[in-house]
Amino acid sequence: MNNKCNQCDKKMNSMQGVHTEIDGKNVFLCGPCWNKFVSEKDGLDFETIELSPVTLRDCIGKSHEFHFFTHIVSTGLAINAYEIIEGERTGYEFSVLGAHDCSQSNLILDLYEKVKKGLAIKYLENNDLGRGIKDMRVVARIGRDDGYDGELYPSFLSMVSGLRGQSLGR
Ligand SMILES: [Zn+2]
Repeated sequence: MNNKCNQCDKKMNSMQGVHTEIDGKNVFLCGPCWNKFVSEKDGLDFETIELSPVTLRDCIGKSHEFHFFTHIVSTGLAINAYEIIEGERTGYEFSVLGAHDCSQSNLILDLYEKVKKGLAIKYLENNDLGRGIKDMRVVARIGRDDGYDGELYPSFLSMVSGLRGQSLGR
């Protein structure tokens, strides 16, 4: 919570805002202020439905705390749900994208369904070799990793909480 929205003074973490330039000044805006700025520029009347963090349980009963970020992007309206563990954005992430004129409430419901489905799937299991991927199914974001020899390698940033990078190999 080290950042402050330059428009409404709301305190937030860096994942809940947008860095942009307005009238030649670099500013950091929270989701609702960003959406207001963009929609007014386009002559639209848009009010962001602000979502409070929620804690949901997965299929083995483990709790996951999700935060949300609703923001207008060039292709429509995006809502992200991301898990926070010990103050960091890590673990599960889900997102939905609707048209610019979609129903925000329906998009929130779509996201909620997506999160619930994602948490209902067991991605890992214990086997003879320790912890492994169940049925060769895993959900991850592919990032990059600077190798010690100066080369770049793709690396998996797992969506399964508690598992990162080399746990899944390169
Ligand atoms: Zn704001």
